Amino acid sequence: MNGVDDTTSQVAVLKMHSSIRRDTIKLVKDEEGKYYFSLQFDSVYNCAITFHLCSQELKNDKNIPLHFVTAPDLPSPSQYKFEAGIGQDFPPKLSMFNPSDYNQDSLTEAKDDYYPIVVMIETNYPKDYKGKAKNSSQIVYGSFKLEGYDYSFHCIKTKFLFNKRMFDIGEIFGVEGGTSNIVNDNNKLCVICFTNDKDTVVLPCRHMCLCMECSQIVRRQSNNCPICRTKVSTFIQIKEKSKEDERNKESISDAKKKEVAEKAANDAMKDDNEEEMSSDEPEENKDSHRANTPDLDV
Ligand SMILES: [Zn+2]
Ligand SMILES: [Zn+2]
Repeated sequence: MNGVDDTTSQVAVLKMHSSIRRDTIKLVKDEEGKYYFSLQFDSVYNCAITFHLCSQELKNDKNIPLHFVTAPDLPSPSQYKFEAGIGQDFPPKLSMFNPSDYNQDSLTEAKDDYYPIVVMIETNYPKDYKGKAKNSSQIVYGSFKLEGYDYSFHCIKTKFLFNKRMFDIGEIFGVEGGTSNIVNDNNKLCVICFTNDKDTVVLPCRHMCLCMECSQIVRRQSNNCPICRTKVSTFIQIKEKSKEDERNKESISDAKKKEVAEKAANDAMKDDNEEEMSSDEPEENKDSHRANTPDLDV
């Protein structure tokens, strides 16, 4: 048996600098029968969001996504840049597409490395950034469901890329939209403190059950998932929709938004330094994660 210190030193705590709130992704139909995406996202630095419609995922030999390739006869992917901000709404009608430009099967059926829709958010770090992160991206893979005459978005899976590591997360358990029946507000709260919103996914079991503060406690103590007792390999902090954000959306001014983002950026900077001290992984893990830097710039 390892001592507690040995065990905790092997557990990585990753804080994503940009993320899409996956349960907020929706497809909206306008009067002309065209569609656009509606979603919310968080970014502590500037970021870019890209929509790849009907594309093939190309991966390197370590299974890390490198590019998404769209057939030349289809409209090219569209990328949009945003400033830092927590709880941002993607502007409506920005990402328009017309289903009649596409073959119906190509919109509804994912196959092998082909996906009808891939939404990606990438962090653009500022020039004066001094933290350890080089790449923090989230990729949401999906398809479209056709019911009657209307398409809707269907999420297949999510991957997080952090520096040279990739976390392939199918379904996250414990958030709205998952298979678990999450209906009341209590389920948004961390299962340990019942005070903060859940914002941390536990790997490998994929339970979204903790706040970041309590994940630090779990990490120092038992290091088992509080839901299923599985030994934790990694904590990934992401933002999901919370009551507080809903309230903030009503009242928050742009200046306040900026202040919140700056605070988050400062916190993230602090955390980067913590992360460096705490994420010594065992050698075999390092090897399995090691890969060429993903070339995700578009
Ligand atoms: Zn907590
Ligand atoms: Zn678990």
